[in-house]
Amino acid sequence: MFSEKIELLIDGQWLQGSDGKTEPLINPATEEVLATVPHATLADLDRALDASAKGFKVWKAMTAMQRAVIMNKAADHIEQCKDAIARILTLENGKAIGEATGEVQFAADATRWYAEEGKRAYGRIIPARLPGVRQMMFKEPVGPVVAFAAWNFPASNVIRKISGALGAGCSIILKPAEETPGTAVAIARCFQDAGLPDGVLNIVFGDPARVSSHLIASKIPKKVSLTGSTAVGKLLQKQAADTLKRCTMELGGHAPVIVYEDADLEKTLDTVVMFKFRNAGQVCTSPTRFYVHEAIYEAFIAGFAARVEKLKVGNGLEDGIQMGPMIAPRRLDVMDALVSDAKANGAAVVTGGVRLGGKGYFYAPTLLRDVPDTARIMSEEPFGPIAPVTRFSTFDEVIERANSLPYGLASFVFTFNLSLAQKTEMALEAGMVGVNHMMVSTPETPFGGVNESGYGSESGIEGLEAYLRTKFVTEA
Ligand code: NAD
Repeated sequence: MFSEKIELLIDGQWLQGSDGKTEPLINPATEEVLATVPHATLADLDRALDASAKGFKVWKAMTAMQRAVIMNKAADHIEQCKDAIARILTLENGKAIGEATGEVQFAADATRWYAEEGKRAYGRIIPARLPGVRQMMFKEPVGPVVAFAAWNFPASNVIRKISGALGAGCSIILKPAEETPGTAVAIARCFQDAGLPDGVLNIVFGDPARVSSHLIASKIPKKVSLTGSTAVGKLLQKQAADTLKRCTMELGGHAPVIVYEDADLEKTLDTVVMFKFRNAGQVCTSPTRFYVHEAIYEAFIAGFAARVEKLKVGNGLEDGIQMGPMIAPRRLDVMDALVSDAKANGAAVVTGGVRLGGKGYFYAPTLLRDVPDTARIMSEEPFGPIAPVTRFSTFDEVIERANSLPYGLASFVFTFNLSLAQKTEMALEAGMVGVNHMMVSTPETPFGGVNESGYGSESGIEGLEAYLRTKFVTEA
């Protein structure tokens, strides 16, 4: 049973689209229809835009202390409903229930963190050149925000936008992914129940290209925030240019993992296998290209394969499941194509490389060895449960290969040699580097990429700054 009714939230009202158009919501583990997702019409979107303008006035006029009271209440509601929201998340996204529960906790934690950080949107006093003059810089919320989020983290992708915007004093129109609407709706209900004024948070669904181009063309929003693919990021940035809206772009990645010969092999393998296959590899920071030093290459492959073969794949609601399905059948086609291409380029399949039969969009956790840099999977984001491994011999060689793609989101390094770790951290083109571990996302640390992985950060003080603008005042 799917407990969430999917509705639009416009000006504090929960509604269906005004022309009644919907699309089905599918459980990727069972292929069952869970619910229907309403589409907003252009008139509905206009109402959401007006509501965000009205909501912004009300929310901005409140003090950061008053806003924090409501946000903290919302966080309490999210935490109280954690198990129910996590179940919705797993039903619509497929990930293991333990991962879903952790993600919902992240939503509560991030909301609390931004409730407090909003109180620290400090300005400064700047000494003047002339006697009797006072010079001050204030931080103000940038205005209403339009935001778009990918389906792979149905709770954390949306909460980073909601809590960052609300913490700074902005209103927001959020379009979560149509593949995972229930989690966003459940979280939004927690904010409404906490007493959020009408129009501050609006949720819409629909045809993504139509919704985003209509919202971005309006003069009401002053900021665009996207978590999604690089291709869509480039498109939305072009659209935002017409009204000179500022953007935060959290886009695709292709994280290199460098394993030096002195790494603790057993611990490294435990870590990389767990992170590679969580959410079936559908993670923007997922370890994607494995560069393993030639001295430990064979041992790495053997240890990796042994761990992969033990992974329990299935419906994320069942006990002990470590990897769920992919989000949609189109993604299985992509996995097949990447594996065939790698084989044609000389790679070998150690384990996996096939779809798993029966209902649901399941692909076997896959290990590919001796994958040449010319294989598509070494440069295209696979966003799936495939680990391509290759060997390297020198520092200069591995850095050049690791930095050879336009992406620059996460990178990972495994070594106990401190100076080598530091040299590698500094040399990598990436927004985030994990050394001997892979946890690069917390509410209080900046999350974001460089180059074609986007720009701007979410989380941390940078995530609040993204929703603030600067005003200089001078008084004589
Ligand atoms: P996507 O770009 O297709 O969609 C992302 C969001 O944008 C969705 O809500 C979608 O509906 C919306 N959208 C708005 N305008 C659109 C348009 N014109 N066409 C299509 N969609 C439009 O991304 P996806 O495939 O759903 O998600 C996977 C991608 O997201 C991967 O590349 C992944 O790396 C990236 N991602 C990045 C981060 C990050 O923080 N850097 C986090 C999660 C996912």
